[in-house]
Amino acid sequence: MFLGSRHIEPTGRLCFYDPSRDVWDATTAIRHLAGVIQKISGILNTNVDDPEDETWLQDFQGYWGGSKVYLASRPSNGKIYNLWNFKDKKWLVDSQSFPEWMHPDNKDIDRWYSVKLANIPKPSTENWPPSNIRETLVWFSDFMWKPEMFLANILLRERFKKKEKGTHTLRKGFIFFDDNPDSPQYFSLRFEITKTIEQAMRQKRAKGLGNLIKSGYFNPKIDAFNPQRADPQYVHSRNLPAGTKTLKDLYILQIGAGAIGGYLSQQLTALGAGWGKKAKFTIIDHDNLSTENIGRHLLGIESVGKSKAKELEEYLSASMPHLKVEGVNASVLRDKSVFSRKPDIILNATGSEEVSIAVELLLRKLFENRPVIIHGWILGHGLAAQSFIRPSGEDACFMCLWEGEGGKRKRRHELSKSPKDDLPVFAPCHHSFYPFIVNVAVMAANLMVEQLRGYLQGSTGETLIHYIFQRDKCFNRSNTTPEKSNTCPICNQGR
Ligand SMILES: [Zn+2]
Repeated sequence: MFLGSRHIEPTGRLCFYDPSRDVWDATTAIRHLAGVIQKISGILNTNVDDPEDETWLQDFQGYWGGSKVYLASRPSNGKIYNLWNFKDKKWLVDSQSFPEWMHPDNKDIDRWYSVKLANIPKPSTENWPPSNIRETLVWFSDFMWKPEMFLANILLRERFKKKEKGTHTLRKGFIFFDDNPDSPQYFSLRFEITKTIEQAMRQKRAKGLGNLIKSGYFNPKIDAFNPQRADPQYVHSRNLPAGTKTLKDLYILQIGAGAIGGYLSQQLTALGAGWGKKAKFTIIDHDNLSTENIGRHLLGIESVGKSKAKELEEYLSASMPHLKVEGVNASVLRDKSVFSRKPDIILNATGSEEVSIAVELLLRKLFENRPVIIHGWILGHGLAAQSFIRPSGEDACFMCLWEGEGGKRKRRHELSKSPKDDLPVFAPCHHSFYPFIVNVAVMAANLMVEQLRGYLQGSTGETLIHYIFQRDKCFNRSNTTPEKSNTCPICNQGR
């Protein structure tokens, strides 16, 4: 039995208890119970000995409870939110700048006011959490002077539009927050106001409104809510080690939406591809998904027969609707529109030597300063996953990894002991394929993202990296940084 909280109400009830951290085994019940009692007595003693220790306040949101409501933008003092339903959740959206990516099922015009507090208030010992306005005012009076005037002044922020007269619901929500960067805390409550209160709001009479709120005639029940940040900044930065860069505001071009490309695109969106006003995340692939693919693809049967690129757009946009993801059903070698804006970063997940070389050649023609490109592929029949980054036009390109021409072309840093065994398997109707297991594709995507992470942080490390799956069929080689080849036709020709 684990007790994560040291706050115990006068009734003996635990304010916040996380059952997921509780391991229950009936055969040891008595021992556990004795342990719990001992622990509770320890907590009570500590509370009595050191009433100033307020570490338990870190669990405030847990004590407060309430139903979840999601903040589409970070709260700031005085911000007014509207409540919308979207994706089966209740969202609070900034009433001054609605997120263009949100397509709500309804636009409830309940107003919610955000109020910054200097500290998270201590729960009171009686009637807590409060269930009506009366109890709320009693609790607030523990930490502020004239709480009724405090609420009245917040309500007076409402700007009534003439049109809205009589059409809006009479519910008002409050988001209280303490945005201490170490442990930001939020709690919300909502109550219904009466016609009389609304009238006083319209008349802008602060004192009269305060008196009305305090009067015994106004004591609506309050609903508790537990606000959770769900804004893009929070979504993309919450779990990153300090100082890690994201893909915010960049144009990311991903070529290929196959096995590697599916998992890659998922990781790129987690890092923020498509996030921000200037951002764009384009995935280009001319192929449709087929049943042969789904055994090792991010997408499933629903997407079979449809464009891989467009289906990835659907899938990723459904998971993170604030991202600007665009799937282009075309070949990158034919449709140059994806280059009408110069990509900040290109990721080539086609896994094809021919396409990789053709893309390098195309970039040489299109751009004076070639953008960074990361190529990922699978060696032979799942021998290894590999990734190669060309950070700038000055560095070795994908073509530089090869020597010789046409059928005699050989890798300069060959990993495979027997490249002739690495040819594709031929299947009927001119279909050929490389057998490999899904984890090899995931690893190729991982290596690409690892190189991307290094690039964003300003240190690429070795530019040609690999992870070997079949040791017996591969040379024991280290990651390396190939030199530019002086016979490379791409690096040694003018534009
Ligand atoms: Zn080259």
